[in-house]
Amino acid sequence: MNRQTYTIAVVPGDGIGKEITPVAQEVMEKATEGMAGFKYVDFDLGAERYLRDGAVLPDEELERIKQTDAILLGAIGDPRIHAGVLERGLLLKLRFGLDQYVNLRPCKLYKGVESPLKNPGDIDFVVVREGTEGLYCGAGGAIRKDTPDEVATEVSVNTAYGVERVVRYAYELAMKRRRHITLVHKKNVLINAGDMWQRIVDRVGQEYPEVSHDYQHIDAATIFMVTDPGRFDVVLTDNLFGDILTDEAGSVVGGVGYSASGCINASGKYPSMFEPIHGSAPDIAGKGIANPTAAVLSAAMLLRNLGLDEPAVLIENAVEADIEQNASRRRSTADVGRDILGRL
Ligand code: ATP
Ligand code: MG
Repeated sequence: MNRQTYTIAVVPGDGIGKEITPVAQEVMEKATEGMAGFKYVDFDLGAERYLRDGAVLPDEELERIKQTDAILLGAIGDPRIHAGVLERGLLLKLRFGLDQYVNLRPCKLYKGVESPLKNPGDIDFVVVREGTEGLYCGAGGAIRKDTPDEVATEVSVNTAYGVERVVRYAYELAMKRRRHITLVHKKNVLINAGDMWQRIVDRVGQEYPEVSHDYQHIDAATIFMVTDPGRFDVVLTDNLFGDILTDEAGSVVGGVGYSASGCINASGKYPSMFEPIHGSAPDIAGKGIANPTAAVLSAAMLLRNLGLDEPAVLIENAVEADIEQNASRRRSTADVGRDILGRL
């Protein structure tokens, strides 16, 4: 048997990140027994590191991360740190430095989880958000800062290269799912970028005649997300719209404890990164009550990304069964971990 060993960069990060990440690793180990081996390299990054020695993401550490096969991230953040320091200096530096141009967020309503929607129906879609361009690319600036004439700009950069590669990813993903893509943009107002996105979706779509596609403005999409989320299969959108829409999507499928995400370099040149969508939850950190499910599902996404589909499905099925049976019970982090492990 081809039992390959993979090197995984582990960034437990802050707060509950430190509590849930080891659970995810344990589940990963058990699910892949006999199939793959992992060498974990721990990276001490995040708010605590920054508060201790001022380092956010030293270039030398970024280079070491580049040598790994994938990254498992817990959570980053601390209310004591000025907004933007860790977001731009760590998370965006990783995303851009590793050219993680696909931000992938599966949204599935598991049986047993309560959605805030009255009649949620079956919800199972994936948001494919562009991760390196748009309004988050860092172009723009503050002009005449701190004067009454101050001007602040952020420029949305969209390249045909950048859009096409994420569009292709969405089509490939749609082929493995229900074969429908919904492009979300605001092309009636953002006529330059919106038009380009639409043309590229149309053009690439010709290579995938089995995949249907439609279009919604972002404002309409936020409404459908709560009135009829069952209509979505693959939702394709840009960086800013995707950021907002994925938070809304996460809440319709029952909130932060169950949602994982991936920042993916689909070219395979650099490692991809997998993390729960929730933050470091300082309010419950250290109490041993954080739900590790999203971290476990992040590990499953990581395995799938390495081509280890079999253990990924194993984990997803175990989690699904665990949620169905136990979602309404109050359990400790360790209990949830033990219950999931017991089902593998
Ligand atoms: P960030 O700025 O880091 O994204 P946030 O303000 O979005 O942080 P979170 O850290 O995601 O906040 O926490 C939001 C709320 O959800 C908190 O009350 C937190 O305790 C709760 N929460 C987050 N993750 C979990 C988890 N895994 N298990 C249980 N509760 C959680
Ligand atoms: Mg948050």
